[in-house]
Amino acid sequence: MSFVKLPPRKTTAHRKTKELRNLVVILGDQLDSDSAAFDGFDPALDCIWMAEAVEEASHVWCHKMRLVFFFSAMRHFRDSLLGRSWRVEYRELSATPENGTPESLQALLAEDLARLKPREVHVVQPGDARVQRQLAAAAASAEVPLKIIEDRHFFVPLHEAQEMAISGRGYLLEGFYRRMRRKLDVLMDEECNPIGGQWNFDANNREAFPRTGPGEIKPRTSFRPDRLTREVMAMVEARFAGHPGALERWDVPVDRKGALKWLQEFICDHLPAFGRWQDAMWVGEPFLHHARLSALLNVKLLNPREVVGAALEAHKRGRASLADVEGFVRQIIGWREYVRAIYWKEMPGYAQRNYLEATGEVPRFFWDGKTAMECVRDAMQSVINYGYAHHIQRLMVLGLYAQLAGVHPYKFHEWHMAMYLDAVDWVSLPNTIGMSQYGDGGIMATKPYCATGNYISRMSNACKTCRFDPTKGTGPRACPFTSMYWNFLARHKAKFARNARMAFQMRNLERKSVGEIIALRKAAEDHLASVS
Ligand code: SF4
Repeated sequence: MSFVKLPPRKTTAHRKTKELRNLVVILGDQLDSDSAAFDGFDPALDCIWMAEAVEEASHVWCHKMRLVFFFSAMRHFRDSLLGRSWRVEYRELSATPENGTPESLQALLAEDLARLKPREVHVVQPGDARVQRQLAAAAASAEVPLKIIEDRHFFVPLHEAQEMAISGRGYLLEGFYRRMRRKLDVLMDEECNPIGGQWNFDANNREAFPRTGPGEIKPRTSFRPDRLTREVMAMVEARFAGHPGALERWDVPVDRKGALKWLQEFICDHLPAFGRWQDAMWVGEPFLHHARLSALLNVKLLNPREVVGAALEAHKRGRASLADVEGFVRQIIGWREYVRAIYWKEMPGYAQRNYLEATGEVPRFFWDGKTAMECVRDAMQSVINYGYAHHIQRLMVLGLYAQLAGVHPYKFHEWHMAMYLDAVDWVSLPNTIGMSQYGDGGIMATKPYCATGNYISRMSNACKTCRFDPTKGTGPRACPFTSMYWNFLARHKAKFARNARMAFQMRNLERKSVGEIIALRKAAEDHLASVS
């Protein structure tokens, strides 16, 4: 850990004679130059504080690419601030650990508060309740007031999003989404009805690829690591050598210019095919027509307004259909704002939710991708190479496997936080514990997302080259998804019997004989024993 030596600037001389007014904390997922943190910022009186903390890199076993993405984007952001002659105190990790340097964000901040003695600390609301607690503890120990600023990156203030998300006694995404459409006047006609006469086009957006595959997928610009990124890569390889993932296929942007380039490429080359194929998978095609913008949005190199605006403009100009644009916009103004509202409403208790009482560990192949299950191997290849899997691989391959296998939902969340570039606590926790694992018992999803291997077979070509057969739950070619699915339903029969939306699946379970269920359970248990 070292302090970055800043070039001499006017502010350096000034700060020798004046006490520091505000220390403005910028976290690794707050790289927004229009952030509310900078409102009223005076380089002569105020100072920005950023830190690369060992604890943030290791509290979960972080993918190397994720570490490089965050640290490199932070260093690029720091340099852009220095270019504006702003004073930045930046704690940089070096390849070799230095004795006595604190490892946690809290301890680093406490040390610098004692040294810099600001009158106040300002921070935009962090995306992680744990980090918020750490900052508050550091400020309290230094007896410096901490001011948490509302994050205007989002379309609506948090309290308003929470009011909009609650419907009757619970949360309702569809109601939230419709309110957001009306409020933001997105895809609405003059009578305040949805354009096209319907709120969503899900029915148009569930196609699988034809037997010949997805056809040519135009590649995104692959960003070669620049000097700063190479320095971070060397540091990560030296300091976090044992961490999972690889850096060889590095291609992501780490600054605003690169982020805008990917946005433009998505809008021009992929949005017109996004909706129709958004649930489809194809082996060896990790990105298909997915946006791959979530990491850039979540570290705030992109603003959701410009992303939604660009999609709406493409529709206006006739370059993308209503179904494509609606399906994409819903993710940003609907789902993204909705999960944030729920995260802050339900934390800290939400992290402990485990409705299905799952106790399992994350399997080894979730870290190295070594498995005979072709769908899992292919999805994991994408995760290892790019810190990325598109949403249907996350939900209906990796998430589904974890759920059926009985992985503890918080352990699955920790894996998610470790392996995906775009994972920040506020978005990861509701998506994993709630949506993917049904750990919240129905807050995020009205029923568990569960299926046999037949679903994967329908939406992908993976089963064609797999040694397992998705139609079989028992026998030498039994597909683990299929045997575990039936065992999952049988295991949670009492809970699912109370859920009307599970009635169809439970009726199918009832058609199976006791002998069949015992054989399926044995196949599922044998599979789990073979991978533990
Ligand atoms: Fe996946 Fe089963 Fe299909 Fe193999 S057969 S690819 S394990 S769903």
